[in-house]
Formats: sequence, C-alpha cells, structure tokens
Amino acid sequence: MTISEIRSFFPVLNQKVYDKPLIYFDSAASAQKPVQVLMCEEKLHNDFYGNIHRGAHFMADKATIEFENVRTKVAEFINAPHREEIIFTKGTTESINLVAFSFCEAFLNEGDEIIVSEMEHHANIVPWQLAAQRKKAKILKLPFNDSGILEIEKLAELISEKTKIVAVTHVSNVLGTINPVNEIVKIAHQKNVPVLVDGAQAVPHLKIDVQEIGADFYAFSAHKMYGPNGVGMLYGKKEWLEKMPPYQGGGEMISEVSFEETTFNELPYKFEAGTPHISGVIAFGAALRFVEEVGFDSIRKHETELLKLATAGLKQIPGIKIYGEAPEKSGVISFNIEGIHPYDLGMLLDKSGIAVRTGHLCADTVMQHYQIGGCLRISFGIYNTVAEVETFLATFNKIRLMF
Ligand code: PMP
Repeated sequence: MTISEIRSFFPVLNQKVYDKPLIYFDSAASAQKPVQVLMCEEKLHNDFYGNIHRGAHFMADKATIEFENVRTKVAEFINAPHREEIIFTKGTTESINLVAFSFCEAFLNEGDEIIVSEMEHHANIVPWQLAAQRKKAKILKLPFNDSGILEIEKLAELISEKTKIVAVTHVSNVLGTINPVNEIVKIAHQKNVPVLVDGAQAVPHLKIDVQEIGADFYAFSAHKMYGPNGVGMLYGKKEWLEKMPPYQGGGEMISEVSFEETTFNELPYKFEAGTPHISGVIAFGAALRFVEEVGFDSIRKHETELLKLATAGLKQIPGIKIYGEAPEKSGVISFNIEGIHPYDLGMLLDKSGIAVRTGHLCADTVMQHYQIGGCLRISFGIYNTVAEVETFLATFNKIRLMF
C-alpha cells in the first residue's frame, strides 16, 4: 500500500489546525483511526447491535459471533496457542492491573519480590506497587543505561527465590527502545519466574508472536494500533489464568450464584465481568485486518526511515539532547533543547499545526534517570511522511531561533 493510499483512509489528517496543515506526531499517545475501523463500529450500531453471550435473539447472536470472531483474530494476530487465552479489557492499563491483582492475590506473599524495569510506563509500575503494598512485598528495579538500553545482564542477579514475577515493556514509550524480551523471558524462565510484557508500544510497529517471545502475559491497547479507544487485551498462558482468581465480579464471569457461594465461568469469561465494549472489540478486529493489510515489513521500513531522518535532523541542532539512542528503536524520539521549556516548544509547534506530546510522558522513573522534569516527544504512525518530518525540522529550527 502506498503512503497516499494509506492516508486516504485517514480523512482526519487532511485538515488545517490554526490555519496550518495538520502534522500528527503523537501516535504513541493514541493513533488516528482509519475509515475501516470507524465504519465497522457504525455498521454494528446500524445493523445488528445487541448484548452478547446471553441474548436470545438474532441481533444478540450476530453481535456475539462477531465479538468472538475477534477473539480468534487476536489469538491469530499474536500467535497465541489458544483463543481462550485472550481476555478483552479496557486497555493495557486494565490488563496489567488484572494480572497485578489476580496473580499477586494467588502467588505473592509477604517478603516476596517483583522485578520491574526502570523504563516502564506508570501503568506497569503502579499496579505492582499496589499489590506489593497489599501483600507486604518489595519492588526491585531493573535499570537501563544512559543510552536507554536495559541492563539485562543484571536480571539474573536480581532474581532470587523470592522473585514472583518480572514486568517489562516490549518498547519504551519515551526512549523508543525495543527490548530483547525473548532473552529477558529466557533468563527469568531459567529460574522459573514468569514474565509480563507490556506490548502497548510494540503492537503498532512489530509483528508479535507470543509463543516465540515466551511471555506468560502480554498486554496491549487497540487505540495505539489504529483501533478504538477503551479496548485492549490480555494474553495469559492458560496454566496461569486457570490458577488465578477473578479480578472483578458480575456478568459473564459467573457459572452459578447463590448467596452462599458463586462458581466461576471458564476461561476467558472468568475475567470478563460485565458488558464489555462490544462495538469497540468488533472494530478492534477491523484495525487488526487493516494493520495486516499494510504489513509489518512496510510499517517497520517506513517508520525507520522517518526515525533516521528526524534523528539526524535534530542532532544537527545545537543544544539538543535526545533521550534513548538504542540501536533497536521504534518511531519515537524524546528530547529537550537547552534553555527552552518543552511546554513552550510544544505550544508553539501546536500553533504551527504540529501535534506533539510534552511532559513526563507517564514515565516519571525515566525522567528521574535523566534528572529532568519533562521533555518533548514526537512519534510516528504509518500515515506520517518524509515531507512532514522535513516541515517539522524546519519549523522547529525557526521556533528555537525565536528564543
Ligand atoms: N504502557 C505503555 C508503554 C504505554 O505507552 C501506555 C500508553 N501511553 C500504556 C502502557 C497505557 O496504555 P492505556 O492508556 O491504553 O491503558
């Protein structure tokens, strides 16, 4: 698919903001949605909306079939061995909270330890802290170096008989680093420790094979991969999910309820309490089909070209500091320029039509590593162009000279 074909599916990009052509460089926060996804959601509401699983009529049955087809599609997309290992959630954050609550309820005890990397999004730190507080356990940090590379050689030393789980991101939302998750899982598994991988920033860019990675849990959101917001998924190995207690109660997660006792439904329904985001899940299927149609080889090639061009351009600017220079990076560049506050830069770029992200990027531990209060981040999607990167660099240069 050519870039102009791709862009034709995103009419939202063909607009002006503050009278300037929009350049959307904030896909790592949330990606725009192609018409295929928008139409899929609309079609459900126009044609066959009904509540799923317990319906006794045509529309409910049809919605249930479409919903469950997406579960199969997600399983194929990440090469999960069993479709019942796919649990629909609100997003990565809820997926991680589910595991942090339920896994830790079953397996974490006083004095135990959880290893979390230093480059995590808050969504992969705070749920573990809450669990650790509940169970009087400890969080240990797996550090990264100043280039933004995880020091995985330290992992084996950190793991002890007290370690219950390792939580690590596949791709950092600040540094862009693509972590060697296969190796991390191998090291942890040698000591019989399971691993949760946060795939929120990986799925839009890389072909994921959970069997090849070997992760025990893998989480991601639909909205970062051109799907709807409010939907995500958790992959968990059956042998863990079966032993874990429910996370929330109500709806489809029960088998039988009396005031004395409730028995729980089988996987995956045990973890899907309440009416889910039916239209969102069905449109998630359209996003998966769209991304597959574009193809991960082209996505990676295109985003790497934009990344190289933008990095080289930024590096020529005096006073620039880029955070994260790992050799394996996704399309994310976080940086600061000496003497200018990132909020001021972000605001002036916005007024020039360029949408970027500023602040701590929900990754305070990364900010603390570099001893900064915040930074500016540009991130690319499949619809961004070389011309947009060139316009960004020229605009950025003009803005910095104003200070
Ligand atoms: N992990 C990472 C690495 C992220 O980038 C994000 C979103 N910024 C999340 C987790 C949380 O995702 P969500 O808000 O969709 O739950």
